[in-house]
Amino acid sequence: MADTLKDLPQIEAVLRARPMRSVIARYTHMETADAVRAQIGSLRAGLLEGAEIDLPDFNADGFAASIEARIVAARAPRLRRVINATGVLIHTNLGRAPLAPQARAALHAAAAAPSNLELDLATGKRGSRHDHTEGLICALTGAQAAVVVNNCAAAVLLGLTATASGRSVIASRGELIEIGGSYRLPDVITQSGARLHEVGTTNKTRLADYEAAIDENTAVLLKSHTSNFRITGFTAAPARKDLARLAVRHDVILMEDLGSGVLIDLSPYGLPDEPVVRDILEAGVDLVMFSGDKLLGGPQAGIIAGRRDIIARLKAHPLMRALRIDKLSLAALEATLRLYRAPHDPAVDVPVLAMLAEPAEAVQLRANALAEALVEAGLDDVEVVACEAQVGAGALPSRPLESFAVSLRLAGRRAEALTAALRRNDPPIVARIVRERVLLDLRTLNAPETKAVAAALIGISQA
Ligand SMILES: *Cc1c(COP(=O)(O)O)cnc(C)c1O
Repeated sequence: MADTLKDLPQIEAVLRARPMRSVIARYTHMETADAVRAQIGSLRAGLLEGAEIDLPDFNADGFAASIEARIVAARAPRLRRVINATGVLIHTNLGRAPLAPQARAALHAAAAAPSNLELDLATGKRGSRHDHTEGLICALTGAQAAVVVNNCAAAVLLGLTATASGRSVIASRGELIEIGGSYRLPDVITQSGARLHEVGTTNKTRLADYEAAIDENTAVLLKSHTSNFRITGFTAAPARKDLARLAVRHDVILMEDLGSGVLIDLSPYGLPDEPVVRDILEAGVDLVMFSGDKLLGGPQAGIIAGRRDIIARLKAHPLMRALRIDKLSLAALEATLRLYRAPHDPAVDVPVLAMLAEPAEAVQLRANALAEALVEAGLDDVEVVACEAQVGAGALPSRPLESFAVSLRLAGRRAEALTAALRRNDPPIVARIVRERVLLDLRTLNAPETKAVAAALIGISQA
């Protein structure tokens, strides 16, 4: 006869069983009791659903072992390394840019020991954490001054709060962006205490629209990068240098929320549309904000570069402390910025840019090698396909990157089942599905990761 709800024991009785004592000794009474409660709870749920369940012997070693396994699983780290086979280079859900070895070393050093984070070693007096990156950012962008905060959202919030609180911000209707994860520019403007004054239309905004909107209450003309969408066709937006002249004439600040901050010209890699920070500042933009972990290829950070007098106001603003960058990110950012200077070559030394710069033929050769390894191991429905990788994180939406992927199916298994099995791998592998086939894009896989993907797929196919 099948077991029933009446046969489920009391938690306390189970905890008194002899084999459970050593589990309690290793993991505390509370954690063990929680695990027993959860285990019995799932048995109860099964019985309530009418499942035929043979209850285990709650006093036996086997049940104690299952409780221990549950505790070990609950204690396992939640934030784990994964392998990105999606072809999206800067994947916000996967932590964005991987760091260069130099940046990882700097981060590690800053974590392991005290540092001169806010100490001027020459004078022995209090220093500023901004000093470590300001000179580098100015040298790389031509800015007069720079300051770094927690992320680009913080940079925009600080920039607007310090310059436009209680006043108005003029922005084009074609640029009132939403970025994933609840960043909506109109809401950020409101949060800064400024009032948004929208001008123009979705597709066309002219210089005259900005000019007509300027009054004595205007503090800022805000431009923003339409990172994750593109309006094409019958469109118009004034050139930055015309907006800059207008801003000077009316003594207001021209600010740009750039999102993905590119420090070098990416046109040699087939990406000619992305504005370079130096050019934006040269056009006369007073203040530009961009992320550290998008195309810059560094840690999460928000960089603000531009006019010295405005940056000085930001540094002195009370929000600065709440939004400041932490020392680990600062260390990684400084090291990443150094990779933009000789003798380094950012297209080689910054991993995100190296992925971007790899010729498609080289990606194809690596895809061929992975496919061959899989076929040799007995997988039979494997092919190499041309595909489109993406920069991601809202950068360059209309510019897919030529790439190659291994496309496969396992007999008798749905594509979803295979991607789920890949996510259960250690480390988990994240892939995409296209027309019922699983695609592993080689553009985002380095050599050791490709090896791990091959081993995982062979393991899954033989399971
Ligand atoms: C990504 C992005 C942001 C937000 O940057 P975070 O560093 O994630 O805070 C803001 N503005 C634009 C235009 C972006 O593309």
